[in-house]
Amino acid sequence: MAKLYFHYATMNAGKTTMLLQASYNYRERGMTTMLFVAGHYRKGDTGLISSRIGLETEAEMFRDGDDLFARVAEHHDHTTVHCVFVDEAQFLEEEQAWQLARIADRLDIPVMCYGLRTDFQGKLFSGSRALLAISDELREVRTICRCGRKATMVVRLGADGKVARQGEQVAIGKDVYVSLCRRHWEEEMGLALPDDFIGFT
Ligand SMILES: [Zn+2]
Repeated sequence: MAKLYFHYATMNAGKTTMLLQASYNYRERGMTTMLFVAGHYRKGDTGLISSRIGLETEAEMFRDGDDLFARVAEHHDHTTVHCVFVDEAQFLEEEQAWQLARIADRLDIPVMCYGLRTDFQGKLFSGSRALLAISDELREVRTICRCGRKATMVVRLGADGKVARQGEQVAIGKDVYVSLCRRHWEEEMGLALPDDFIGFT
């Protein structure tokens, strides 16, 4: 039986590069893949999935209210789909995560989702919460903090270069995201004292 996979990580961990490589592996063998990317912050009908190392591929967009099961089933009706890929899966609605599960369960097509686990305030995204709950396989894509520990959290730097401690879950613009370990994230967010002071307070 096909499975629903969720590859999760913080920013800049190389999730998109992994997605594009995996899709390429299918296509190289003459198989068909369907790619989706969040359309919440994009215009038009076709999106681009682009990775930091320069790879990019066209993808369909998903927005709130879209029925992903119906879209894949329709495509699969005339062209066999061998794998479905979803980038920016943190933006899925809970119902859409279930639609992806149905693609695996009822159409027998594997579904590979890639996304962020938590936002800059350390809270789960809706899509990630649903995928963590119902995916068959969870795979953490690792990246490291400046200190060398595993980075599991992300901070957002505003235009002024300072760490944002409040605000919208997603900022459109030139904000920069930095992945940190939990300890350094707490310090940057002002929730804990810096390492150096621990034991002296
Ligand atoms: Zn650290």
